[in-house]
Amino acid sequence: MTSARFTNIHSCRKYVRSLRLDPYASAYELCDQMSSLRDRPIRVVEAPLPIPGPMGVWIARARDDVVVVQELATGTHRDHIVLHELAHILCGHEGEQLPDYQPEIPALETARGGPVGRLRSAYDSVCEREAELLAAAFAEQLLDDLDEEGEGSSDVHKYFAGS
Ligand SMILES: [Zn+2]
Repeated sequence: MTSARFTNIHSCRKYVRSLRLDPYASAYELCDQMSSLRDRPIRVVEAPLPIPGPMGVWIARARDDVVVVQELATGTHRDHIVLHELAHILCGHEGEQLPDYQPEIPALETARGGPVGRLRSAYDSVCEREAELLAAAFAEQLLDDLDEEGEGSSDVHKYFAGS
């Protein structure tokens, strides 16, 4: 797959700006907003994903997209996992096709050979890079990263980096 839409952080920032999002303090809030903007809702669920294995998984169901995030992940790490899977969704990459997946049933998450047990953890590297870039652009807009004037964090970081 070589048809990456986002090849650098600038194109990602431009896309994020074009969405005209309300401020969001977590990846969960962002997913809620994206759910309103799309025809398909995005649900985020925490589950005991097998270790070793992917920290996050995107499952495409019949009527919505489910982001499953490793329940052991916390704080900014968890946000990043969710943003990364959200980026895969928005980039139109291919999620796990599990139309009837029921994340409410814990046995599915942990059962060896169950749906999540056989998930592939690797997209091709073009998709991974694209998802990472877009996740980074979304992360820059997280409210915790903003100063009191509501501006992006990059200038602040630049300032403190002395450049
Ligand atoms: Zn990925």
